[in-house]
Amino acid sequence: MTEADLIVIGAGPAGMAAAAEAAGRGLSVLLLDEQPRPGGQIYRDLGRSDATRRDILGRDYTHGAPLIAGLGADGLTHLAGATVWRVDPGPVVAYSRAGYAAQARGKRLLIATGAIERPMPIPGWTLPGVMTAGAGQILLKASGLVAERAVLAGSGPLLYLLAVHMVRAGTPPVALVETQGRRDLAAAMRHLGGAALGAAMMAKGAALLAQLRHAGVPRFTGAEALRIAGGAHAEALHFRVRGQDRQIAAGTVFLHHGVVPNTQIGRALDLTHDWSARQAAFLPRLDRWGRSSHPSIFVAGDGGGIIGARAAALSGRLAALEIARDLGALREGDRDLAARPLRLSARIETAARAFLDRAYPPFAGALCPDDDTIICRCEELRAGTLRRHAALGCLGPNQTKAFSRAGMGPCQGRYCAATVSALLAAETGRTMAETGSYRIRFPIKPVTLAEIAALDQRE
Ligand SMILES: Cc1cc2nc3c(=O)[nH]c(=O)nc-3n(C[C@H](O)[C@H](O)[C@H](O)COP(=O)(O)OP(=O)(O)OC[C@H]3O[C@@H](n4cnc5c(N)ncnc54)[C@H](O)[C@@H]3O)c2cc1C
Repeated sequence: MTEADLIVIGAGPAGMAAAAEAAGRGLSVLLLDEQPRPGGQIYRDLGRSDATRRDILGRDYTHGAPLIAGLGADGLTHLAGATVWRVDPGPVVAYSRAGYAAQARGKRLLIATGAIERPMPIPGWTLPGVMTAGAGQILLKASGLVAERAVLAGSGPLLYLLAVHMVRAGTPPVALVETQGRRDLAAAMRHLGGAALGAAMMAKGAALLAQLRHAGVPRFTGAEALRIAGGAHAEALHFRVRGQDRQIAAGTVFLHHGVVPNTQIGRALDLTHDWSARQAAFLPRLDRWGRSSHPSIFVAGDGGGIIGARAAALSGRLAALEIARDLGALREGDRDLAARPLRLSARIETAARAFLDRAYPPFAGALCPDDDTIICRCEELRAGTLRRHAALGCLGPNQTKAFSRAGMGPCQGRYCAATVSALLAAETGRTMAETGSYRIRFPIKPVTLAEIAALDQRE
C-alpha cells in the first residue's frame, strides 16, 4: 500500500494548490484525480489546449497554468485517471486506475472534489440534445466542439460564461432564457455593500453581459414554465415570460441553475453536514482551516461550499498549512503568518458571493417539477411517484430510496439528491435540514468485482 503524509482527492484549483503548498512544506503528497489531466472543472485540459482554445476561453482559463506547473514539486505524486471509490477513516483511499485497483494510506486526507451542477428536471430534459451548461463547457475545453442552434436556459453566471465562449468561437447561442427575475435582483441589492469589495468579479459579470448584448444574443429573464419539446431529439424550448407564451427552436438546449458541493465522499464517511439556505445546498461543517468533523479529514474548494476557482485555490493552501502544522512540519506562528494574506485574498474573492447567490436562485419549477417529469434518471422515476410515497408517510430521501430505488443507480444520487430532498420537503412541509439528504454508501463510483478482488494481491 502506498503511504503519504497527505492524500488529496481532486486536482482542481483547490487540490493542486493544497498539494503544492504541502509538498513545499516538506510533506509527501499523493494527489489523485479521475481526469486524464489536472485542472479540475475550470482549467480542464489547459495543459494541452492550443492558442485558439485559450483565446476563446480567456484569461480566467489560462490563470491555472502556474497551478498545473506546481505539480512538478518534489515530494508530490500526481496520479491522473485515478477514480476514488472508497475511503476509510484511517484515512485509507481505494481507487481504480487503468483497470486495476489500489489503496493508499495517508496521515491526513484532503477532499477537494469540487462541485456538481444542480440537476434541472423540467419536462423534456431527458431528450437527446439536452445537456448541462457544464457539459457544453467540457465539449469546448476538452474537444474544441461548440453546439450549433443552442439555447441556454436557467440561471447563474456560468450561463453567461458559456454564451460568451460560444460567441468567441463564432457560434453564438440562439438565445439565453433566464429564470431569475427583477425581484431576485432587487433582493440581491442588499448584498451590494459586500459585493463592492468583490468589484473585480462584478465587473467581470457586467463585461460578459455587455459582450452578449454586443453580439446580439437575445436574453429573456423571469422565464417560467420551461419545457423542452421534441420527438427523438430536442426541437424547441417553450417558456412563459410576463404572461406571454414563447417558443424558440433549438437543436441543443443547455440547462443550468447553479452548482452544489460534491459531498459524496464526505457523506459516505458520515462527516457532519448542514443545510445552507443561502447556497440552497448541504455543506460539510468545517473549521476555518477546512477541518471536517473528523480530525484527520479536511475539505477545500467548492466541495466545502461554492466559492469560485480562485478562492478554492486559497482554501486549499490554508488547509495545507494547517495539515503541515498538524504533522509537525510548520510552527503555529509560521502557519498564521503564511495564512494572513491568503485569508485577505479569500475575503476579496468571495465578497460578491452573497449577491450572486441571491441574484441567481435555483429555478423553483425544477426543484419541485410536475408529476410527469423524470427526476431520477438512473431508475427512470417521476416526481409523481415520489409524491405518492410522501403521501404514504415517507419523510426523507432514505425512505423513498427503499420504496422506489431513487438514488440507487450508477450515479449514486449525484443527479437527483437535490431534487428529491426539495420535493419531499415541499410535500411534507418539513425544512430541508429536517428532510436531509441521501445516506451515501461506498463504492461511490462504479468498480468491477475483478478490481476489488485483485486489491489484496497487489499489496
Ligand atoms: C461543470 C462545471 C463547470 C464549471 N466551469 C467554470 C468555469 O468555466 N469558470 C469558473 O470560474 N468556474 C467554473 N465552475 C466552478 C468552478 O469549477 C469552481 O469554482 C472551481 O473549479 C472549484 O475548484 P475545486 O478545486 O474546488 O474543484 P474542481 O475544479 O471541480 O475539481 C475537482 C476535481 O475532483 C475530481 N474528482 C471528483 N470526484 C473524484 C473521485 N471520486 N475520484 C477522483 N477524482 C475526483 C474531479 O475530476 C475534478 O478534477 C464550474 C463548475 C462546474 C460544476
